Amino acid sequence: MDEMVEFLHQGMLSLIKRWGTKWSIWPTHLVTACCGVELAHAFASGYDGERLGVLNFGMARQTNCIVVEGAITRKMARILKITYEQMPDPKFVIVMGVCGIKGGLFWNGYHMVKPYEVVPVKYFAPGCPPTPESLLRCFRALQDEITTGVGKNTISFQSSKPSGEVKKRKRPKRVPPSPKYIAKNPSVIVDVERVEKWEDGEEIRREIEEILGDLAESVKITGKNRISVRIGVENFFDAGLRLKESGFDHVKSVNIVDVPHEGKFIVEYVVSSYLNERYVSLLLTLISEIDRVDAHFPSMIEVWQSADYLERELHDLFGVWFDGNPGMGRNFLIAPDTPKNPLRKDFKIPQDVYVGGV
Ligand code: SF4
Repeated sequence: MDEMVEFLHQGMLSLIKRWGTKWSIWPTHLVTACCGVELAHAFASGYDGERLGVLNFGMARQTNCIVVEGAITRKMARILKITYEQMPDPKFVIVMGVCGIKGGLFWNGYHMVKPYEVVPVKYFAPGCPPTPESLLRCFRALQDEITTGVGKNTISFQSSKPSGEVKKRKRPKRVPPSPKYIAKNPSVIVDVERVEKWEDGEEIRREIEEILGDLAESVKITGKNRISVRIGVENFFDAGLRLKESGFDHVKSVNIVDVPHEGKFIVEYVVSSYLNERYVSLLLTLISEIDRVDAHFPSMIEVWQSADYLERELHDLFGVWFDGNPGMGRNFLIAPDTPKNPLRKDFKIPQDVYVGGV
């Protein structure tokens, strides 16, 4: 048996085998990010990547090449590994984009993983985004390597001296320092006069005020079709119930703003209506504040079910506990090895070079 395998790899048949592999690279492409557009470009009619014998294929078990298209996150790294392990030998990996080399645009992000630490990578197509030509060059280099057994760079750099006189800086350029102070109460001032004409805006604002009664601290127009309501955390759930009864039937988004210098989180629910014609175009932002230490907030899933996954996401990212949501603490969004609460402002990435450190 061993002899047969050796014959296949090294005997006369190996020439045919290598020729066949060279012209049958069938990449399964992991569209992990925007580089995927450039891959599509490389295989569209202009560049016609298929003429090189490269045919995109959707199933891991019948493909022999992965094209990683840009950024790989901690969550995606697992999929990359599983896909690679399912592929038959011989198998190859090509990585596109600076995001796949050193994080690129997301460099130093808590969620970034370098693909070459997960699977063996044959070729990189650098750039942001890399051009279709550079991706096709990776395939050509791979084909050459399959035939000759030798992998080579496809580009060489030459050093050149700039012409003309180069003036030396007298003093080395210094990195600007981080801001030394934080404004105590940064506020967004909305000039209602300048809000784009919203004919029944004031009428709707009064309606909201009436619905909420003494539960709301303030109800303000902040833009066309936008009203913001400040509510104390103890009244938030009841206010939600009243708004639901009045036609605000879903949550569009839930957000948290971390304000460490004031020791608080600002929690926002943006709600709207599908069914009440009057409120369909209205975005109502409900704003409340909670203490940053031991941060708890009443879950709104009994009022608006669509708040569920948003609350779970925010729990993972900020550590705020939404009382009453059964998904708390289950690590919904982020991969198990992700550092805790990475979107808190005092979170520092455990890396040698940290951007923004004071
Ligand atoms: S390298 Fe550029 S184009 Fe590619 S995934 Fe990153 S940001 Fe997107």
